[in-house]
Amino acid sequence: MSDLPAVIRIGGTDYTVIERKDLRDGNTDLNGQIVYNDAEIRIEDDMTPHVKWVTLWHEALHGLLEHAGMGDHKEELILALGYGVTQALRDNPWLRQPPGENVVTGDYGPIRVSHE
Ligand SMILES: [Zn+2]
Repeated sequence: MSDLPAVIRIGGTDYTVIERKDLRDGNTDLNGQIVYNDAEIRIEDDMTPHVKWVTLWHEALHGLLEHAGMGDHKEELILALGYGVTQALRDNPWLRQPPGENVVTGDYGPIRVSHE
């Protein structure tokens, strides 16, 4: 049983998350891959749950920049953000919870709209 979600949404597109044992296929550096046209994120299965989680973040960040029209970004940027975001979220759980909202129960309270 995987700890990863079956689907994650990035930039309005639902990506299927697939764990594969053959993803590396000779390329030992490949932990994950995002395939935009197939709306798939492929994760190497032969990794610890934590490494899979960080890898999924890594691929999601690639997707965020791609959908923002910045597909020509540097891998170093994604590495820095992937490790940085996951570290910040683990060390500071309150960063995941905006005031007045409960991300655990899904109770986001009344929608507030300001008109100026
Ligand atoms: Zn990458």
